[in-house]
Amino acid sequence: MPPVLYIVIPCYNEQEVLPITAPQFLQKLLSLRDLGKISDESRVLFVNDGSRDGTWELIRKLAASDAHYLGISQSRNRGHQNAVLAGLMEAKDRCDITISIDCDGQDDIDAMDRMVDAYLEGCEVVYGVRASRRTDSFFKRFTAQGFYKFLAAMGAEVVYNHADYRLISARVLRELQNYREVNLFLRGLVPLVGFKSTTVSYDRAERLAGKSHYPLGKMLALAMNGITSLSVKPLRLIMGFGLLVALVSFLGVVWAIVTALTGQSVDGWASMTCIVCFVSGVQLISLGIIGEYVGKTYLEVKQRPRYIISERTWEAPTKPRNS
Ligand code: UDP
Ligand code: MG
Repeated sequence: MPPVLYIVIPCYNEQEVLPITAPQFLQKLLSLRDLGKISDESRVLFVNDGSRDGTWELIRKLAASDAHYLGISQSRNRGHQNAVLAGLMEAKDRCDITISIDCDGQDDIDAMDRMVDAYLEGCEVVYGVRASRRTDSFFKRFTAQGFYKFLAAMGAEVVYNHADYRLISARVLRELQNYREVNLFLRGLVPLVGFKSTTVSYDRAERLAGKSHYPLGKMLALAMNGITSLSVKPLRLIMGFGLLVALVSFLGVVWAIVTALTGQSVDGWASMTCIVCFVSGVQLISLGIIGEYVGKTYLEVKQRPRYIISERTWEAPTKPRNS
């Protein structure tokens, strides 16, 4: 029996691009089926992430038009990572493998063939890795590459140039379910789960329509989330830096005493000011970093749900009876 594949696609305000890309996903699914690589039970699963435009209506129409399309809708916008997770968790009990991909046509769908092949050869996780960023603007390319390098330097292990285009088997998803963090960074979490994995490379194209939801601010927030939810290296760095500053300060104190004792002291206003400014700056940055971790802990202990599915394009699960 060929495996059942679910292609999981997060969509946020994508009414312009969805009519173009949805048929492409379906074509890919059907061609994989015709090649006998996946079962006919396979589906394209859209996750509407609380869009404010006509995205959900569009998904419902698609689902009505072809049984291979399915859709779920989140109760509100929760961000890309949570939308992907909602789709993966919904899919994991109905399929053998999932492939998550953005809905804007930037990721080359033809890489799916190689992903499925790698699965059939025994890999449980297949990461899509961008071979080139020729079509990205210089700024996007520069910031995105800086993002991966900075993450690696800060001790967060991620696959270089891999975004959220990947194949994950249902078996791995059942293990991923046990990672209960609310500060989600799937790119860092999936490698932690382990299992046999490989990469396939593809060329990243330009968005077919609509506009990016990841401006610099959001990308920085994602990088910060990635680092602080995967690594405590920044805490160690500020500890090391604090020690260094303490050592230099100690030498400064010795110098000040010697100067005072030998009667060479001048009214050291400038040096005092410099030292006070420098040390208070270091302290504030350090407090900020620690605060970031305290904040994360605060969010984690609340254990709020990471996604809430409010609607499905198929029969809704039966509601509990009010007693
Ligand atoms: N997305 C989402 N929720 C959000 C923002 C984005 O589900 O709050 C989806 C979006 O519809 C797209 C994917 O995440 O399918 C990637 O977003 P985008 O293409 O805007 O990011 P970029 O490719 O520019 O990094
Ligand atoms: Mg995109």
